Amino acid sequence: MAFDYDLFVIGGGSGGVRAARIAASQYGARVALAEESRMGGTCVIRGCVPKKLMVFASSFPNAVAEAQDYGWDAQIGDFDWPAFRARLDSELSRLEAAYRGGLERAGVTIHDCRATLAGPHEVRLADGRTVSAKHILIATGGWPVVPEKWQGLGAMTSNEVFGMDALPGSILIVGGGYIASEFACIFNGLGVKTTQFYRGAQILRGFDEEARGHIADQMCENGVDLHLGTDILDITRDGTGYKVKATTGHDASYDAVMFATGRKPNTDGLGLEALGIELKPNGAIPVDAYSQTAIPSIFAVGDVTDRANLTPVAIREGHAFADTIFGGKPTTFDHSLIPTAVFTQPEFGTVGLGEEDARAAGPIHVYATAFRPMRTAFIGRAERVMMKLIVCAKSDKVLGCHIVADHSGEMIQLAAVAISMGATKADFDRTLAVHPTMAEELVTMRTATRSHDG
Ligand code: FAD
Ligand code: NDP
Repeated sequence: MAFDYDLFVIGGGSGGVRAARIAASQYGARVALAEESRMGGTCVIRGCVPKKLMVFASSFPNAVAEAQDYGWDAQIGDFDWPAFRARLDSELSRLEAAYRGGLERAGVTIHDCRATLAGPHEVRLADGRTVSAKHILIATGGWPVVPEKWQGLGAMTSNEVFGMDALPGSILIVGGGYIASEFACIFNGLGVKTTQFYRGAQILRGFDEEARGHIADQMCENGVDLHLGTDILDITRDGTGYKVKATTGHDASYDAVMFATGRKPNTDGLGLEALGIELKPNGAIPVDAYSQTAIPSIFAVGDVTDRANLTPVAIREGHAFADTIFGGKPTTFDHSLIPTAVFTQPEFGTVGLGEEDARAAGPIHVYATAFRPMRTAFIGRAERVMMKLIVCAKSDKVLGCHIVADHSGEMIQLAAVAISMGATKADFDRTLAVHPTMAEELVTMRTATRSHDG
């Protein structure tokens, strides 16, 4: 049977764009891609990129305060949100055009509309056309979830935050994951009175406990009003703002409320169930190590599969799919060692096992240090940096590295190279320190802080 295309990709985000581009440009496949919103997807339009630019914007008041203490006659002045937003909008448009251009140059046919599945080899476009493809790749990403009882109040999610008309004077952020914690720091840095509610005992569940505590303490010291073990009991509109009652009895009004209470895979109405693909309870598409679904011609990559919801992961999964199907090189992506950074202030760079998970797996030695870094100790700040290596007591392999410090995302990228190569603690020890830096602590911790028998 002759198909219209070799590959039809649904979704023009990190995973879909990479797979389409590689299949077309590297392997000569006839590829089409449908994107219902803006090319580039979550990362470029409403995720990593605008978020990181807001992190940068929010860091200047502290930098100016530090500059003053270093002797500069510097004043911060007011933050012009509309000016920043206009620059942000034009940068995102530039990136969107770059993604589109990359696809066009690779020879990918772009359909600017929603697409759904009509069969194992058929895709229905929103304009009514049906096209066929030998392979279909679903890369439709995810969408923020607001708890059902608080929907319809007009509260923000990460989707709306980049398009605010004005900065609120005060904000309540609900959640304790990556997005809630990053945005609590962003708003706090921008001078917004920031409160964060997290229902659990400590933010950033799943990461190394000592690191979570260190980050939370520093966030509070920096001015975030963090309420742990706290959820919303009731919320009502209060003029242009919100009146919120917390489960702890705390009662306050906020100009804005942002829910960062998780994301759901974008599978509603895609037509997967009708083809016999049974979704996971949260709507994610089950796939095997090659990202293949229960229908052999249909594959899925990225957040829609809810494996690890990060841009580089979606990109690797998309690339591995293209190599496997069109390059004749069966390729899987190993999800077991994923370096990541949480762009809180202070930043958190982490790779591998946290202390709790590692000790459950076997005997370990823990090398940990917390210290006042040179730059801020000089001006009398209390700020502390945390660095931690988790080492297998039997093999001496470094199983995890956790850093809470400015630029720890940059540091962890390099530590991840060594750890991915199977570096041992002895390898770290014989690596010469770079002095004076914060990261030199990673190669100078000689005595284990504690050991666990496993
Ligand atoms: P997406 O990028 O979400 O792309 C899916 C695309 O499919 C979207 O453009 C959507 O419009 C389109 N689509 C959906 N349904 C259809 C349909 N039926 N037809 C046509 N098109 C459709 N990750 C990091 O690694 N680092 C970070 O710092 C980071 N920060 C983040 C900050 C925020 C606020 C958020 C929300 C996420 C962040 N992430 C970060 C996660 C990262 O953005 C995602 O993991 C990544 O974008 C997933 O890529 P994807 O290709 O799976 O999906
Ligand atoms: P997460 O799953 O990381 O966090 C969701 C948070 O909301 C958790 O603290 C969760 O609590 C809480 N929550 C869930 N439901 C409710 C509820 N009904 N009421 C109150 N609280 C609730 O999701 P995010 O939205 O923060 O981010 C989604 C994903 O995007 C991340 O997991 C990450 O993969 C990616 N991302 C990556 C970034 C990066 O690389 N720097 C930045 C931003 C996002 P509990 O812990 O109790 O379940």
